[in-house]
Amino acid sequence: MYWDADIETIPRGRLEELQRSRLQKTCVQASSSQYYGALFRERNVPPESISSLQAIADLPFTTREDLRENWPYGFVAVPKDELVRLHSSSGTTGMATVIFHTAGDIETWADSVARSLYMTGMRKGDVFQNMMSYGLFTGGFGFHYGAEKLGALVIPAGAGNSRRQIQFMRDFGTTAIHVIPSYALHLCGVFDELGLDPKTDTKLKTVYLGGELHTEETRRKIEAFFGARAYNSYGLSEINGPGVAFECEVQQGMHIWEDHFLVELIDPVTMVPVRDGTEGELVITTLVRTGMPLLRYRTGDLTRVIPEPCRCGRTHRRLERIRGRTDDMMIIKGVNIFPIQIENKLTGIPGVGKNFMIILEREGYDDIMHVKIEVEKEFFTGDLQQLENLRRRIVAELKSDILITPKVELVEPHTIIHPDGESTRVVDNRTRQ
Ligand code: ADP
Ligand code: ZN
Repeated sequence: MYWDADIETIPRGRLEELQRSRLQKTCVQASSSQYYGALFRERNVPPESISSLQAIADLPFTTREDLRENWPYGFVAVPKDELVRLHSSSGTTGMATVIFHTAGDIETWADSVARSLYMTGMRKGDVFQNMMSYGLFTGGFGFHYGAEKLGALVIPAGAGNSRRQIQFMRDFGTTAIHVIPSYALHLCGVFDELGLDPKTDTKLKTVYLGGELHTEETRRKIEAFFGARAYNSYGLSEINGPGVAFECEVQQGMHIWEDHFLVELIDPVTMVPVRDGTEGELVITTLVRTGMPLLRYRTGDLTRVIPEPCRCGRTHRRLERIRGRTDDMMIIKGVNIFPIQIENKLTGIPGVGKNFMIILEREGYDDIMHVKIEVEKEFFTGDLQQLENLRRRIVAELKSDILITPKVELVEPHTIIHPDGESTRVVDNRTRQ
C-alpha cells in the first residue's frame, strides 16, 4: 500500500523533528549560493541558527523576481560541476526561471514521484504514457524518472498528436496517462471523432491531471469519459515540478510531501501567515535539494491546508485543490504566460498602438487566446494587405515568445476600453466545466 511506509506514515512529532534538522542543513547549504550567502551575511544571521520551524519566519520570502534577477547561477549552492540537469518554467525570454539539480536531487525527485504514483496504484507491469512536453518543462522528465524508478513501462509520447496518442494507447495497452486537464478534454473529442470509446477500446485505469487549474467537475467528467480514476498532481518547476503534492486514493486533497517540503500559507497582501485551515498563498521551502535550495518561495498559488488526518493513513498534510493565482500569470495549454510578455513584444512592433486586451476563451475542448490590439490610424486607410501583414507579424512575434499561437485582431485606436483600468487587461471567459 505504501512505497515507503516509514516515511509516509511517520508520526507528526518525528516528521517535525526531521523537518527541523533538514531545515538547518538546507540553510547552511543555501548559504553557499551567491544570493543566500549575501542575505545571511547582510542580516547577520548564521544559517545554522535556523533550526526551528519558527526561526524561518525571520527570513524574507524568495520570489520569482529574485530568481530572474540572479539569472542564471546566483542561486546555485554547489560547485557547478556537481550539476547534472537544468529545467525552466514555461515562461520564455526574460520571464523564465531556471532550476539546477545535482544527481542526488534528481534521485530524490524521482523518489517523490514514484511514491506519488505508487500511492495511486501504479505498479511494475503498468504501461504509462506520458503526454506532457519533454525538454525544459518538468512534466515530461519529472514523471518519466519516477515511473521508471517504480518499474512501469514508460512511453515518452510527449505532448500533442492526438491520433497517434490514441493509437499508442491501443497498441501498447496503456494503463495510465499523464495529461494537462485541458488536453484530456481535447482527447475526449478526438476519441469521439474516431468513433472510439476509451472504456472499451483501451486498458486505461488511471489519468494523472496536472499543470493547470481545473475543477472537481472537470475531474469527474474526465473520469466518466475514460472510465478511469483521475488524480490531481501539483508541482511547479521552481520546486522541482511534479511530485510536490499529490492525491491519494481517497481523492480529497493532495498530500504535500513534508519530508521534502516545508509548507507555509500566507495572506498574499499582508504576507502574514494565515491560520491553519484558512486559504492563503502557498510558500515552500525545499528540505532536501542541494543544487539549488529555495527558502520561503512564494508559489503564487492559492490553496488551503486540510488539517484533519487522511483516511489513507499518511501523516503528511493535504492541500486543497489549487483555487487560483495571486499574480496575473495565465496558464494556457499548460504554458505559463504573463501579460507583460505580450506588452513587451507589442511595444517593439512599429504601428502598434497603446492598448491591448487579452480574452481567454474555451472553444469546444480547446483554450484559445484572443489578443485585441489597437493599431495606429494610418493602418486603416483601406489597404487590407498592409493590415494583414502586420497581423501576421504580430502573431509570429508573440508565438516566438509565448509558444502558443494567439488569435490576433487589430482594431482602431481608442476602441479598447478597460472598465476597471489597466489591470483588467485579461478577461478569462473559460469555464472549467
Ligand atoms: P508545470 O510544468 O507543472 O506546469 P510550471 O512551473 O510550468 O510547472 O507551472 C507551475 C504552475 O502550474 C503552478 O504554480 C500552478 O499555478 C500550476 N499548476 C500546476 N499543477 C497544478 C494543479 N494540479 N492544479 C492547479 N494548478 C496547477
Ligand atoms: Zn490520503
